[in-house]
Amino acid sequence: MGPHEMIAVGSSEAGTEEWSCPRCGRRLLLRWPPHFSRTVLHPGDDRVLHVGGRSETPRVTLSEAERLWLDEHGIAWS
Ligand SMILES: [Zn+2]
Repeated sequence: MGPHEMIAVGSSEAGTEEWSCPRCGRRLLLRWPPHFSRTVLHPGDDRVLHVGGRSETPRVTLSEAERLWLDEHGIAWS
């Protein structure tokens, strides 16, 4: 069983992004630096590794600290 790939499904003017997992229905709201926050809208299957991916060119380059933060919150950035 491989990791689930989460996809960004929307963003707000406030800089908050909604991420969704099409396989288990996990949904998160993420807010990027300098005001990191994460809200779990639906936990889905939280035993599974979730990988963040984007189909388009990333508009942000993540720093080491930001990647660590994503790791801590269960999202492996690819
Ligand atoms: Zn999932």
